[in-house]
Amino acid sequence: MSRSRNSQQEKEELQRRIRGLTIILHGFTVQQWPPKRPRDTHSFLRHFTTLLTCGSKCDTGAQSVIAVTGSIEPRQKVRTLIVAQNPHANSPMGPIFLKLVQKRNRSLDEVMASPPSPDLINHIADTWAALSAVDRCATDYVKQLVSLEIFFLRRSFHELSVRFREDTRLCGGKRLNELIGQWKPNRPEIALRWVNPPEWLVMLNGLPKIKSTRMTGGQLEWEFSDKTKYDWSRILAVFLTSVGQSIEDVKQAREENLQKEMETLNFWCRYLYYFVTWKAGIVRDLLMKTNMVNGMTTAFMPMRTTNTADEFYDELAKFEQEAGGSRGVQVLRYLWTVVAWHAAVYTLCNNKALPELLKDIEIGLIQMPRSPSSVLTLPEISEEFFKRFPLMIRKRQVVLKTLERRYSEKRCHSDNMLFDFVHSEAALMGLLNYYKHYSAQAGQDVEFGDPQRMQQIVQPLAEAGEAVIAVGEKCCWCCDWLSKNSESQFTLPGTHGMIYPWDPPKVGVSELVLKKLEGELWNQLYELVMASLARSISPPRIYLTDESMPQLIRSLLSE
Ligand SMILES: [Zn+2]
Repeated sequence: MSRSRNSQQEKEELQRRIRGLTIILHGFTVQQWPPKRPRDTHSFLRHFTTLLTCGSKCDTGAQSVIAVTGSIEPRQKVRTLIVAQNPHANSPMGPIFLKLVQKRNRSLDEVMASPPSPDLINHIADTWAALSAVDRCATDYVKQLVSLEIFFLRRSFHELSVRFREDTRLCGGKRLNELIGQWKPNRPEIALRWVNPPEWLVMLNGLPKIKSTRMTGGQLEWEFSDKTKYDWSRILAVFLTSVGQSIEDVKQAREENLQKEMETLNFWCRYLYYFVTWKAGIVRDLLMKTNMVNGMTTAFMPMRTTNTADEFYDELAKFEQEAGGSRGVQVLRYLWTVVAWHAAVYTLCNNKALPELLKDIEIGLIQMPRSPSSVLTLPEISEEFFKRFPLMIRKRQVVLKTLERRYSEKRCHSDNMLFDFVHSEAALMGLLNYYKHYSAQAGQDVEFGDPQRMQQIVQPLAEAGEAVIAVGEKCCWCCDWLSKNSESQFTLPGTHGMIYPWDPPKVGVSELVLKKLEGELWNQLYELVMASLARSISPPRIYLTDESMPQLIRSLLSE
């Protein structure tokens, strides 16, 4: 820790450069496609993290991002550590505190009656208590599940309504249900197959009817084919319309009928969850094999690349690899993010080991304050750019223009870009690395509020082997890079490959690692500027005959 003033200044300058570089690189909005195949995280951690994701109206979007790690070994205490961003912290560079979440033994009804928008630590305690209170063997288990669904729906309502509206970005301003409603099937694309409709689908009144059905061996079967695909698409449209309408009704509801409107919303969300995740794969085939959503724009870039239920993780990754990010995959991903809370409740409660996991769990919470936002200015970036890539000086004006355009575009779009914050997963990796390697190199730029307690909780996790980290959203390029290049290795849920404004963690990341990252970022900037220059050179306007072509190319090259 006893670093000289100079070297401290040097590190601060390095951090400032990385902040500036990631901002300008974000302006290029490039995605490194295809994204890496998501790696396995523990199902319990991932779903638990989903339930903790409940951005409130006063928080702006990403400020509720949390990252969770834990060690789950048979017959041992489950330890978890949650790192979150704290937009309400007063002093930006104050010490970091770790709080232990206290277990409260409460009945499900008592938890349901707690205030609807608590702070994060109370929400964690409520989530813990609510999941502990569910009894799989109780006669009213189904009723308990519904209470639980509504409880989490109420807590995550704001986040859900924001996520649900993302379809307008997906469909170029239109709603997804409209787009599906306007679909006119016009080509053969589905091989006929018969599916057994589950009871919930048969029993639901008022749904569009499938035109061709039959009984085989006493079992009801519905046809899925070119003849009936339109009927099936209308069922999906009904579910989407109903969820959308119910969200509006909840927003308009007064206190006295809020509960009733929530129940209706939950009803439709659950059916959407059932339909989207139904093993028969109807929604998947409609999206992947037909031209149902071909009307949507292709320039969609997800703002919130939220994680999806783990049953579909591998499946989705496979589609993405195959389809190279087709529209159908994007819609499927969108649908899974909308039903993520229901998937979490069902998966967690279906897990027989859940009561055991929750009985003796230790939950530590660290809320990271905002970090100072001094970043490299545009003139500084340009100056350094020409220093590093001196040959580019020949195109000085064009390069400057390109940099300027990207830098200012970004500046205007800092609304929900995790601006001013160390990404939670990066902060968590830094902390774990610090306790694992304890060297001055993996330094510490801020103090710990209660170093003893911090060590007591974090050290065992750091030493438990390669840490698995669950995050409410997919990770950015820099966090993914850090997980592979820091002194300790980490397993993250995968990356969407995009660069976002990124502030290096204040604890546990060495100067050496930061320098390497900086080098990578400059190289990326160079590649992007080159690509941008190549695009801006307009093709010659003369008509080229085949004979004149080689000559022209030679003359261009020798310029
Ligand atoms: Zn990140």
